[in-house]
Amino acid sequence: MTERTATITLVTCTSCGKPILPGSEATKFLCPNCGEILIRRCEKCRKFGRPYKCPKCGFVGP
Ligand SMILES: [Zn+2]
Ligand SMILES: [Zn+2]
Repeated sequence: MTERTATITLVTCTSCGKPILPGSEATKFLCPNCGEILIRRCEKCRKFGRPYKCPKCGFVGP
């Protein structure tokens, strides 16, 4: 029996909350403050330099 769990982890942009499509020019990096949360920014937020907020420590950065 093969039961597949179709768990698609929808990666969303930390800045705007929109889903990031695989293969897009999005960036991801660990929170510079706590280093525990992976911040993701979509192409547009990167381009426009929108701020992001770490959901764990509340750090806001460009
Ligand atoms: Zn975004
Ligand atoms: Zn943080």
